[in-house]
Amino acid sequence: MNVSLLEPQMLSDLSAANGRDSAALVAGLRAYFRSGSTLELAWRRRQLIQLRKMLSENEARFIGALNEDLHKAPQEAYLTEISFLYSDIDHTLKHLKKWVRQRKVSSPLLTQPAKSYIQPEPLGVILIIGAWNYPLQLLLSPLVPAIAAGNCAVVKPSELSPAVSHLIAELLPRYLDNDAFACVEGAVAETTSLLEQRWDHIMYTGGGRVARIIMGAASKHLTPVTLELGGKSPCIVADDADIDIAARRIAWGKFTNAGQTCIAPDYVLCTKHTADRLVPAIQLAVREMFGDSPRQSSDYGRIINTQHTLRLADLLGDGEVIFGGDVDVDSCYMAPTLMRCVNLESPVMQEEIFGPLLPVVELDDFGKVEAFVNEREKPLALYIFTRSDAIADRVLSRCSSGNACVNDCMMFMLAQDLPFGGVGASGMGCYRGEHGFRTFSHYKAVMKRKNILDVDLRYAPYTNRKFKWLKILQR
Ligand code: NAD
Repeated sequence: MNVSLLEPQMLSDLSAANGRDSAALVAGLRAYFRSGSTLELAWRRRQLIQLRKMLSENEARFIGALNEDLHKAPQEAYLTEISFLYSDIDHTLKHLKKWVRQRKVSSPLLTQPAKSYIQPEPLGVILIIGAWNYPLQLLLSPLVPAIAAGNCAVVKPSELSPAVSHLIAELLPRYLDNDAFACVEGAVAETTSLLEQRWDHIMYTGGGRVARIIMGAASKHLTPVTLELGGKSPCIVADDADIDIAARRIAWGKFTNAGQTCIAPDYVLCTKHTADRLVPAIQLAVREMFGDSPRQSSDYGRIINTQHTLRLADLLGDGEVIFGGDVDVDSCYMAPTLMRCVNLESPVMQEEIFGPLLPVVELDDFGKVEAFVNEREKPLALYIFTRSDAIADRVLSRCSSGNACVNDCMMFMLAQDLPFGGVGASGMGCYRGEHGFRTFSHYKAVMKRKNILDVDLRYAPYTNRKFKWLKILQR
């Protein structure tokens, strides 16, 4: 429904109706959560297996929907969305028994006899709000640990990728326990109504502007949030880097999904000497991947909508286009584009690009890279291409970023045991593997005492004898 076309009264009626629906939905899920059904390990495993089945039995439909929304090639859709989720689920099923275990810790002398342990427990009812650029993966990858940790959840896909959104809304109820999980489609009105409810955790993936709205709404109920945001991820190329490998990996990282990846290299940072060798090598890598006319390539994606295509076209004036630069607004096409001599004060260097446009920023001295990165907001990812461990370790230790990769882009996402999340302006909290399980669990501290001994040292009336023994035992 196009909310902007409605009269104010209708809008307020719609919002009230949404509010009633959302309240009833959350109340139902909470009642089910309180029934204790989600505590059973077997139930959690069943849901995860069903989620996997939903993907495997409908793989072709998901690939088709991803192609419809973003012109994703089947192979890219499989690698970056579908098989990514298979790995998440398989890894979780393999380790879940270990993650749910109590972890014993020591009990001090004064508490003896006692047993102390940490018990992970589910948080309750979780809201997961997804983004449109990886509409399947970004919505379901957080759902996997939410299920594993024993929660109920509502997923809200992005309205900007409608084909995937509709497919998830159709299939999820057919495979998962409907008492515990729901998919709510919609845009601002529906999300606003969801945000008015009390959740036990909100996981949001998207931009910083909406993140502030999410955090504001969460604060009313003291609900914890995980915010997976973006930013300008620098790609540093040292003079000693293997230029051909760097060029191919940077081109892949930047132009996959037409640059609409939160961890895509936003800009390259190197000396002029390196730029002179790197730029033609990236151009060659682009030609090898997408041919002379990327527009004709079935492997090259499209911009999500006209508005974003126009936004990206506007950035072309912020520097000198070395290659690419073709835009066709009607088909939401923008060619893989490289820019040099960019104005550091212009939007292309001030805002996250989130498209297939790669500025190469040249420094007169490589030693200035750390200052350049640190003068800006903390990025979601940082890439450094070098043959030298000393250079890599220095940059890694001096520059803060959510994630980092040496001599490649984005590949850290395949490592299940690495946490994924931002820092500072690029986000807060993390997920993937056990880190996701932790995000959606509360680690409850438990001490179990016995009644056989009741040392009186802590009880009044306080005496010198008790004080002396207290000091000895509490050393
Ligand atoms: P967005 O923030 O506009 O939308 C994301 C979600 O928020 C959608 O589900 C949408 O319906 C909802 N939403 C939009 N406006 C709202 C409002 N006023 N109130 C409540 N909910 C609202 O998404 P975007 O900014 O277009 O996404 C791109 C950004 O997301 C980029 O900055 C990118 O880097 C970031 N991103 C981060 C990750 C990550 O994992 N860290 C992944 C993908 C994208």
